[in-house]
Amino acid sequence: MHWRRGRSTLVPMNLFRLLALAIIAWLAWRFLRRRREGPRLPARRPPAAVPAEPMVRCAHCGVFVPATEALARDGQPFCCARHRDAETGGPGA
Ligand SMILES: [Zn+2]
Repeated sequence: MHWRRGRSTLVPMNLFRLLALAIIAWLAWRFLRRRREGPRLPARRPPAAVPAEPMVRCAHCGVFVPATEALARDGQPFCCARHRDAETGGPGA
């Protein structure tokens, strides 16, 4: 058996070249697409932290307490019932 290369490689060469070009083009397209998507991921912003709660200052001792936990009397915020009563002349004063 004799292999005659000159004759058999003439036609498939163009086919292989076309296939190689197609693969290269596909890889390049995939690479570019992945690169374009890359920077998008870190752009995601972390969810906002715990919403800032307004703080009020105790009119008696000056301690800051969340407005939702403060006790108010006469428009003055207090950190606890004891300070509120002490400042406004509540029971026991
Ligand atoms: Zn207080």
